[in-house]
Amino acid sequence: MSLDGDSGFTQRTRQVFCAHCHTVTTTAAAIDSELRCGGCRATLTVYHHFSRRHHAYLGYRADSEDLT
Ligand SMILES: [Zn+2]
Repeated sequence: MSLDGDSGFTQRTRQVFCAHCHTVTTTAAAIDSELRCGGCRATLTVYHHFSRRHHAYLGYRADSEDLT
């Protein structure tokens, strides 16, 4: 229950480009975790692909590609 382990990079922020409304949201969310898009308010999953075009990681709605 210590905060020591992997606390070195947990405060780093990144920018996430919303694939749906094209808004860039600054977040402290980690890759593969979720954040709330500042534009369309959708819950996005942070994808590991970094877009040099947008200088941001890509974010997709968690339920957009749900294969049911
Ligand atoms: Zn959005």
